[in-house]
Amino acid sequence: MGYFDIKANCSICGKDLGLFTFRSRLQLADGWLCSSCIKNAGGFKKVTRKKDTKETILKKMQENNKKDIVQQKDEEFIKKEKPKPHIETFHCVGESFDNEDGINRQKRIKQITQHYKRDDFITKEFLYGGLSNKEIIEFYTSISEFDDIPFLGNIKEYNYQGERAFAIYLQDTDKKEYKVANIARKDIDRYINIIENKKVIRTGFLVDGGKTKYVGLNENGKDVVKTKNLDYGIRVIITYENLEK
Ligand SMILES: [Zn+2]
Repeated sequence: MGYFDIKANCSICGKDLGLFTFRSRLQLADGWLCSSCIKNAGGFKKVTRKKDTKETILKKMQENNKKDIVQQKDEEFIKKEKPKPHIETFHCVGESFDNEDGINRQKRIKQITQHYKRDDFITKEFLYGGLSNKEIIEFYTSISEFDDIPFLGNIKEYNYQGERAFAIYLQDTDKKEYKVANIARKDIDRYINIIENKKVIRTGFLVDGGKTKYVGLNENGKDVVKTKNLDYGIRVIITYENLEK
């Protein structure tokens, strides 16, 4: 299993969009949109990355008188669709703590991510969601260096003051593991429910923050891409199926 093996289909027409992170597609809050569906919804100016949903896009297409074409396709798509695996996100905490080895986790996360780049585990075209500066301005979005790139890692259970707790380890390119966070307390029951009652297909570790591109103004009042450094955060993405009853 590779790093970028999470495939995506357009949520509206079902078009195969290839791998998880790639160009000519737009991420919705609940799926993906292909370039022709972006056009039918009114173009990039009318759709907001990670905010619009399948439902709001269908509404925009209706306003654009494109819904009929799309719905026809959509029904065909639904007919062929296999039961989809579920995907859930788990928030983490403690990314700024020091580890037992005295190394701060922020520093460790930075080092691991740099090694992924240095050793070509992640190639340039996947950084910043595969978006060019022109596209960042066009989408009017901000995007972190490792947006949607799944890192390798591990989750280990331990006992914290009599309660179940889960530590997140990121794997370096030499397969060494370093503790970088914990699953947030509010997400622990939901996490336990999945590992105990579902069939986990894949566990991905996302690194948020770090070097982040955003749209700002230059001295002439023109939109340009700027860069800022944010603290790193970790999110865990679990893909699972319900177990056969
Ligand atoms: Zn589409």
